[in-house]
Amino acid sequence: MAVKSGLTRPVIRPPSRRMSDAVRDTLRRPLASLRLSVTDRCNLRCRYCMPEDEYVWLPRTSILTFEEIDRLTRVFTGLGVQKVRLTGGEPLLRHDLPTLVAKIARNPRVNDLAMTTNGLLLGKQAAALRAAGLQRVTVSLDTLRPERMLAFAKSARHADVLEGIAAAQQAGFDRLKLNAVVIRGFNDDELADLIEFARAHTAEVRFIEYMDVGGATRWSPDQVVSQREMLDVLARRYGAIEPIHPTGDDDRAPAERFRLADGTTFGIIASVTAPFCRTCDRSRITADGTWFLCLYARAGIDLRGPLRHGVSDDELASLIRGTWQGRTDRGAEERLGVADRGALYRIDSLRAAPHREMHTRGG
Ligand code: SAM
Repeated sequence: MAVKSGLTRPVIRPPSRRMSDAVRDTLRRPLASLRLSVTDRCNLRCRYCMPEDEYVWLPRTSILTFEEIDRLTRVFTGLGVQKVRLTGGEPLLRHDLPTLVAKIARNPRVNDLAMTTNGLLLGKQAAALRAAGLQRVTVSLDTLRPERMLAFAKSARHADVLEGIAAAQQAGFDRLKLNAVVIRGFNDDELADLIEFARAHTAEVRFIEYMDVGGATRWSPDQVVSQREMLDVLARRYGAIEPIHPTGDDDRAPAERFRLADGTTFGIIASVTAPFCRTCDRSRITADGTWFLCLYARAGIDLRGPLRHGVSDDELASLIRGTWQGRTDRGAEERLGVADRGALYRIDSLRAAPHREMHTRGG
């Protein structure tokens, strides 16, 4: 990966907090990882996430300012959060995102600052984001075939995604990951091609099982390609595949990682067939300040109200601490037990409650 070392401002961080200091929930899971959705808008219409043309958007006045996001992040990091990921919607649609990145990067308790993006606008913004202190980028790349992206995400801008990936490499992020949601009959014949592409771009691909989350209104079990099936397909092509046993930071990561005989690594996020609720340390804040303790949670906790009505940081911290300590969520595991499993929500119910959308709560 080409590293332009002159671009980044050095960030001096204190020794990282011990995980044992973090607030823990009823299953002893720490409050350690925060996903911040900075907008509910997106410039793609992927069939597994936002298949409709029009949506009920969050009111503009409800969207948290950068100052509010930064303040909330500081309260969360005071309770143990060390990893922050910007997401959406499409985070790069949020105007002036590097300014927000710079604010969060100044928080010495954040030791991992990352972003998930569809890459369309990354070509123009990668260098500024890196210079502002963004450490890692994950780009969603479901297919290498432009015509498939057109059919599946209603976008003819596949070349822009590739340009975004190239710009991320040039900018010298710590690690570049590529996310591919694998769907039977759409891209399940591209597993090896995506591995080869990632290898050629010094990136690591993560194959994601198609989840029945909010926006996946056309989900059905037969479209899910399981981790087992993906490994079988890849073993036929590459021979023996060795699991990589997680160490340190990786032991709560959603992806299981694997290594091919030639050393190439990849990951699989098996949220459908092998959910990892028992180790889930993630929570999510929507662009309007609603806090979700689980991707499958039916409702979230309003943090914008208290934030805008003058509560102190200590009061916010006490609300967050108490809520996390009572957390029992195991959404993906509970879905495993559902007979006749189908889409989680119908589009009319999502229109009535847009916070249930995947693009609102962030992936
Ligand atoms: N717009 C950005 C992007 O495309 O990466 C960030 C938001 S997107 C909601 C975050 C991640 O969620 C993406 O990697 C996307 O592939 C994943 N995702 C969305 N819907 C999904 C589904 N039904 N099953 C599995 N992953 C999904």
